[in-house]
Formats: sequence, C-alpha cells, structure tokens
Amino acid sequence: MKDASPTAPQKIYLSDYQVPNYLIDEVHLTFQLAPEATRVRSRITFRPNPDATSADFFLYGEQLTLISAQIDGAPVTPTHVNGGLTCDVPSAPFVWEAEVEISPATNTALEGLYMSNGMYCTQCEAEGFRKITYYPDRPDVMAVFTVRIESDLPVLLSNGNPVTSGDGFAEWHDPWPKPAYLFALVGGDLIAHPDRFTTKSGKDVELNIYVRPGDEGKCAFGMEALKKSMTWDEEVYGREYDLDIFNIVAVDDFNMGAMENKGLNIFNSSCVLASPETSTDMNFERIEAIIAHEYFHNWTGNRITCRDWFQLCLKEGLTVYRDAQFTADMRSEPVKRIEDVIALRARQFREDNGPLAHPVRPDSFVEINNFYTATVYEKGAELIGMLKTLVGDADYYKALDLYFDRHDGDAATIEDWLQVFEDVTGRDLSQFKRWYEQAGTPRLSVDEAFADGTYTLTFSQSTPATPGQDHKDPRVIPIAVGLLGADGNEVVPTTVLEMTEATQSFAFDGLSAKPVPSILRGFSAPVILERDSDNAERAFLLAHDTDPFNKWEAGRALARAGLVEMVLNNAAPDGDYLDAVLQVLRNDDLDPAFRALTLALPSQDDLAQTLVDLGHTPDPTAIYQALETLKMAMATHMQDVLPRIYAQYQVNEAYQPDAEQSGARSLANAALALISRTDGGAAAQAQYDSADNMTQQLAALGCLIMAGKGDAATAEFYDQWKEDRLVIDKWFALQISHAAPERAAEVAADLTQHVDFTMKNPNRFRATLGALAMSPAGFHRADGAGYALLADWLIQLDPLNPQTTARMCSAFETWKRYDSDRQALIAAQLDRILATPDLSRDTTEMVSRIRAS
Ligand SMILES: [Zn+2]
Repeated sequence: MKDASPTAPQKIYLSDYQVPNYLIDEVHLTFQLAPEATRVRSRITFRPNPDATSADFFLYGEQLTLISAQIDGAPVTPTHVNGGLTCDVPSAPFVWEAEVEISPATNTALEGLYMSNGMYCTQCEAEGFRKITYYPDRPDVMAVFTVRIESDLPVLLSNGNPVTSGDGFAEWHDPWPKPAYLFALVGGDLIAHPDRFTTKSGKDVELNIYVRPGDEGKCAFGMEALKKSMTWDEEVYGREYDLDIFNIVAVDDFNMGAMENKGLNIFNSSCVLASPETSTDMNFERIEAIIAHEYFHNWTGNRITCRDWFQLCLKEGLTVYRDAQFTADMRSEPVKRIEDVIALRARQFREDNGPLAHPVRPDSFVEINNFYTATVYEKGAELIGMLKTLVGDADYYKALDLYFDRHDGDAATIEDWLQVFEDVTGRDLSQFKRWYEQAGTPRLSVDEAFADGTYTLTFSQSTPATPGQDHKDPRVIPIAVGLLGADGNEVVPTTVLEMTEATQSFAFDGLSAKPVPSILRGFSAPVILERDSDNAERAFLLAHDTDPFNKWEAGRALARAGLVEMVLNNAAPDGDYLDAVLQVLRNDDLDPAFRALTLALPSQDDLAQTLVDLGHTPDPTAIYQALETLKMAMATHMQDVLPRIYAQYQVNEAYQPDAEQSGARSLANAALALISRTDGGAAAQAQYDSADNMTQQLAALGCLIMAGKGDAATAEFYDQWKEDRLVIDKWFALQISHAAPERAAEVAADLTQHVDFTMKNPNRFRATLGALAMSPAGFHRADGAGYALLADWLIQLDPLNPQTTARMCSAFETWKRYDSDRQALIAAQLDRILATPDLSRDTTEMVSRIRAS
C-alpha cells in the first residue's frame, strides 16, 4: 500500500528538538534495481537511546510500497501514519527488516532514488532518504552502512570502500558512521576518468570522475581541481582524506549544484564537466570552487555533521568560507572578495530585505528544502570570516583544530561551534551569536570629527525589522578602517575596530590634518554602510586606496551615485565617473581582472534597491535606460583607449582557464562590449568568427545580440552546439538575458516552445525561465507578461519538481518594491499559484511567505 499524502503544511521549531528515541549501529541495504519496481531490503540494528524521553518508534517513509516488515525475524504489521509508520518494538536492542518497492523512473522530483538518462542516482539531502526506505531520516542518527546493489548495469557505486563485486552485483561498505542524508547510490553505463592521490601520511587513494560516454574528454580539469583541493585541505586545515576511494559522478538532471555524499559526490554535470571549447572562464572558476566545496565537506559536514536541519549553516557557512579561501589561494584574493560581495549583495541582501528574510540559523520551517538559501550559505560564510577577523588567524586555526578533535563523529550545533572559539580565546561570544539568531542586514552610519590632531569616527548600527523579528539588539561588528592623507598616502594602515554598542566612537591621534577614511576594508562585515560622501572623495579613493576592495567599492559608489541622478533627475552621465574609470582602464599596473570588475556597472537589481533605500519607487525601465545611456557614454568617452586595451589583452598562447588568462580575457571582453556600441558589431563579429574557446565565442555572441546583429550567429551557434546540452543551456539563457527588455518575455515564451526545451531538466528550466526572472526590465514589463509567463511554468513544474519550483518563486520576493500596478499584477499571479490544486508543500510555503509581506 502507498502511504497517505502529506498533511497540511506544519511548522517545525528548533525549540522542539528532542533526541532520537532509537539509535542505529548498522544498516544493511540491498537494492534490486528496476526502473519502475526497484526493491529495497533493509536490515537495521536499533537500540533504545538511553537519553530519550519516549519509547515511541517512528520511521519516516514517503512514496514507498511496503512489501514486508520483521522485527528480530518475526513478521510485524506496522501502522501507517502520515509521513511514515509506527510499530511496537522490544525495549532491548532489536533488528528491523523491511522490503519496499519504489519507482525511480517516475520520480521527477529528483529526490530519493531517480533516473536520469537511463542512469540511477540519488539525492538524499535533506529528507530524500525517506523516499528510499523506512528510516529515522534525521541527521543526528548516524550509522555504518553496507550496501549491495544488484543490476546488470556495468557501474554500480555507493558510499565508502568497495567490498566485492561480480556479475550483476556490487557491495560497498562505509566504515564512517553517517546520517542518511549522506547516502548515495549510482548505477549506470558510465565511463571513469581515473587518477590517484597520495595523502600526506602516505595513504594511496583511487580517484574517479564518472560520466556518460562522450563526456570523458571533459573531466581533466575537475580531476586537477579535486587533487588541488585535497592538498590544500591538508596544508591549510591539516585534514586528510579517510577512505581508499573517492568518486564523483556527473548527472544531467539535478536540482542543486552538487552533493557531498560520503566518498561518492554527485554533481550536476554543469558543475563538473569542462572543456575550453564548451566552458567559459567563469564556468571553470565555478567548477573548481564547487569541487573544492564538496570535497571540503568530508570534514565540515560529513565527519562532523549537523544535529538537526536548523544547524545547516554549521556545515554550509563553514564550507563556503573554506572554498572561498581556496579560490583566493588558487586565483586572486581581491578579485574573489569583490566577486563574492557582488553576489552577496545581489542575493543575500535582497533576501534579508524582503519577505523571505530569516536568520542564518532559522528557528522554524515548513519545508527545509526552502532554507538552502543565500542567507544560510553566503551570510553563514561571512559570519565565519568575521569570527576569524575578531579572534585572529592563529586562534582561528587553533579553534578549528579543537573543533575537529572534540566533535569528530558528532552531530553538532552552533553552540558547539562557538564553544570551541570561547575555549580557545577566553572570549564571550554571546553577543556574536546574535548574527546567527537575528535576520536582516545591519545599517551602519558614520559621523566624523577632527580636532587637535585627533580624528574621531562615530558609528551607529541599526537593523530593520524582518518577518517575525521587530526588535534587534546591537551586534558585534568588526570594522576594518584605514586612513589616507590628502596626498594619497596611507597615514593609518588597516586597523580592525570592534563595535559592540548601538553607537560607538573610535579616535585616531597624532594626525597633522583631517584624513580621508577608508571604511569597511575588505568588506569586513556584511552590513550596509550609510555614509554621506561626495564624488570627489569617491574618485580620490578609487585612485589612491591601498585596499583593493575599497578601491573597487569607491568606483562602484561613484557609478551608483551618477546612475541615481540619471534615473531620478534625467541627469547626464557623470563626467567625474567617466574620467575616473578611464584612469583605471588605462592603468596597466592594475590587475586586468580588477579593471574589468571596475568597468562593470551596478546591476539593475542593485540600483532598484538603492532607489528603495533612498525612498523612491524604482522604475525598471528607467533603470535599464540609465544603464544603457551610461554604457554608451563610456563607449564614447573611452573610444580612443578601448581598441588599444582590446588588442593588448588578447591571449595568444594556448587556452588556460587560469587567473592570468581569464583576467586578460575579461578585460578584453569588457572593452569589446563597449566597442560594440559604436562599431555596429564589427569587432564582435570578427571575434565570433575566429573564437576557439567558449569564453570568446559567447562574449562575442552576447555583443552581437546587443548590437542587433545577432540573428545569423545565434542560428550558427545552435547548429554548432545542438548536441551539447550544457552549451545549449547557455544559448537559451543568453538570448533572453541579452534581449531588449520589451521583447524578453516573448523570447522566453518562444524558447519554451523550442524542441530542446524540457521542464524536466532543472538546468534547462533555469536557463529559460530563470534567465527571464534575472532580467529585471524584461521580467517587470509593465503589462505583466513576464510575471504571467513565469507563473504559468511554475504551476506546470510544481507537480513534477516541487524543489526547483519553490526556489524559483523567489523571483517575486522583491515585489513590494514596485509601483501599485506591478504589485497588483504580481499579487494576482501569486494568488493564482496558491490556488492551484494540490500545490506542493515547498511551493505553498514560499509563495505564502512572499504573499504575506
Ligand atoms: Zn555545501
């Protein structure tokens, strides 16, 4: 029999946490794979938890057909309840055995065991294991797994080390106790890209990247990234790999980027497959970072896991922080920091400022899949960075050593995490903990005074109310400050001020004249700095600041100020900005990647939020027009220099996806984008025709579409790449993101009718509807066509794939920013989604939270 459908959405609270009633020592699973009738036999040794307050026995299970169940060899008839089953059990340790049937071929939610292009694979985080068998599917129940897979498929993989294999079967044993969310199984006709790694203690590890036949030429870069990650984690954190084998498998249909299952990482193929011809420099950088991220989870997530899903940031914040350190070490630290802050502001600040705001450690949820958010991940990582800044590097690594020593094998909490820092440093971190508990981005305002050689900075902090949290207490904010003299020389080097009060002053003595402050260097805290500054000072800092982040930030502030004037007052492009950015462009002493970032303008979404912060209602069309006008002004103002830059930064050596070459290409392509505004697309066409790598080809195609000359190249590109699904994803997304805003919804609608469009593949769905949602002027078209198109497709996708549907609903999270007409149009679409019969728990929660604001 099938269990009943889920009940009405129910909220789960952190404060209700109870230890598990039963613990598990060992799990034996046997899978007989068949597309629509896979049999899963489980044998689980349970024992009562001495710390439990109840003897109730409950196993989660969803979409399972129970064939039989036994306790200590005797058949039992469990009682099915919503979301699982209960049963009378002995008061002493006992063996539970069950056989269930599941249907991977019809599992379109891509959660549990499912099929993708004839291959079996799993995704169990957060609560997918309960779709495989009845189990106490919660992260604080950790067990040793032994898995037997029976199938005629040539490659059969699970976690841990291989035990034995033969005709039609394979057995795996994972000696490390793990929660069920780290379980993985793969069966398919796959090809391995093999390699080996020797750990620092001399242990030999077999490495494989498994892919579909035809993709074997796209594995070398991922393998190098894996080996670099393994070395880096040994050198920087002293963490060594702990199994005989490490496998990565590429899967086309995957909701997330990748998953850190113990010894068997499963990757969205877009996050591992790479070749110069088919991947851009950005793809390569992202792949390197994601491989590192999942590998680093082996210690921060797997060996030490989370007690419950409220603690998700314990593993994610720390691991994102570690992968950012890795990328900074492999590439450029300032460039990585700037890229991360752009992403943080675009995704996390936006979230923190809207109806979906929640603390880094949430205190309640309906569907945990909805909390794999920028707040948990990216703000979670910022918290680790602040902690490191506050305690210093030496104590940070001492605390981490203590964390690994003390909690290895544990399902831990944020309290455990902070305790190791308190024990190592003697600091009281109770105020710091507010960063985990309070949602919202703090606003930091600054007053300054200068008298008798003393310069005083007075900061005030406040955090706006967020859903469910009206009052916020002051937080600990590390503010990195440097002071510059009028000649541009630094008179006070970077100093970290530790702000703990609502309002607090810091004095600098012995100065001969009033300095220019460089505040929040390196973006030392995830706050919004509200400081009255003028363009002269911004231009001065852009020219002279020794802190690369604040140097870039000054240019960005200058651009933003000019754009706001253009939007609100129809001002002409700001000449100070054009001059300042021309100086940066010309300065060959500066890193080309840094210059490319400085040439890039704030996004439409960034400007919309800036206008809201200034008390205005943003007009998406006016913002788009201002950006277009400014880009044209830049193209004209710099037209003598741009061809020189474009020519100078062409890479003539063989393609390498390294920081140096990709920096040169990013600057040359930034120049090309401006040149294309005045040359009718001639330079872009030449680059398109001669490109031998995807970075150059795609950049040129984007410029041609923007210049209105892209039709032929768009058709050619499709013919060239129609067999490569990852390149065709780019082709879908680029046509929408580069379309004129008034046409973007039609372009997206037409592409949903294309023979290659399928909503069953999350990458393709995001490349189409996600690309529209991320093009503000097109998405927010005044007649609501963008809203209606997205809602139509979310309603269609929800019964197939609730996770991806729910995540994409965040396209509507900024709706309260806009005018009443647009708000009414969006409200109507949100209500239409909510009124859909049998809407998933995931989507119901997301749309309800957005609509309630
Ligand atoms: Zn992760």
